[in-house]
Amino acid sequence: MSDTAPIVICGAAGRMGRLLVGLARDEPTLRVVGAVEAPGHPRMGEDAGAVAGGAETGVLIGDDVAAILEPAHVLMDFTGAPEATLRHVRLAVERGAALVVGTTGFDAAQRAELSALAARTRSVVAANFSVGVTVLTELVSTAARLLDSSFESEIVELHHHSKRDAPSGTALALGRAVAAARGQDFEHTAVLAREGLVGARRPGEIGIVALRSGDAVGDHTVVFGGLGERLELVHRAQSRECLARGALRAARWIGGQPAGLYTMRDVLGL
Ligand code: NAD
Repeated sequence: MSDTAPIVICGAAGRMGRLLVGLARDEPTLRVVGAVEAPGHPRMGEDAGAVAGGAETGVLIGDDVAAILEPAHVLMDFTGAPEATLRHVRLAVERGAALVVGTTGFDAAQRAELSALAARTRSVVAANFSVGVTVLTELVSTAARLLDSSFESEIVELHHHSKRDAPSGTALALGRAVAAARGQDFEHTAVLAREGLVGARRPGEIGIVALRSGDAVGDHTVVFGGLGERLELVHRAQSRECLARGALRAARWIGGQPAGLYTMRDVLGL
């Protein structure tokens, strides 16, 4: 692995994209070599560093990933547009470039396609790149295993009012961690909304509730409710920086790995 990981950021003028550009600019082990936006974006042609706020990087925002992507690059996708993400992933596989995918909101078929494609090159895909959430997921798995099924699991997430998908990819991942630890099929036990006369809670249900309010970066609470006691595991992101820092850590790490689909657990060596 070279000392400096060359990264191409897709969604470079978005909230995550600007953070990634700004943090990478100050990080000697990373080099922004490409910044890509949706065709017609108002910041097209501007310096990615200036768009991120601060010093210029010398990299202008363009709309053609294919024109810049090389095998040594790490393509980071935070477009929030699953169809575009899948196009970027196909291109990275064709070129042999590495991938860090943070976009969420894939439907089941898109998720399956993403996993199959991403495994063909060096890829880290995570619904949440925060180190704290990665450890939370481990703790949730352990709690789900240690507590018997009389401790009923419910998940509450809170995000800012602009978030487009619900529930969050992180809440779904936490639900899947509970289901996996308890040998359940998540798709059949998850209950994503309750309304009206739904009757008593079915044994084994994993309820997930999404709240949208203000500028909350992302809170996740996993509740294990027993009889006379309740265990709650909580993570609160105080700024989006933890997500961007985690994604950049993944970008540095993935360059030296053999082809395969990795998670933040792998990046942290858990
Ligand atoms: P955003 O809307 O602020 O930014 C997305 C950017 O992508 C926009 O500037 C948009 O113009 C651009 N874009 C859209 N289509 C594109 C295309 N075809 N090519 C290039 N650029 C394109 O959104 P955001 O808050 O930065 O979040 C982006 C995505 O990342 C969402 O799916 C969000 O849920 C996810 N996210 C994941 C993590 C994580 O840790 N995995 C953290 C934060 C956000």
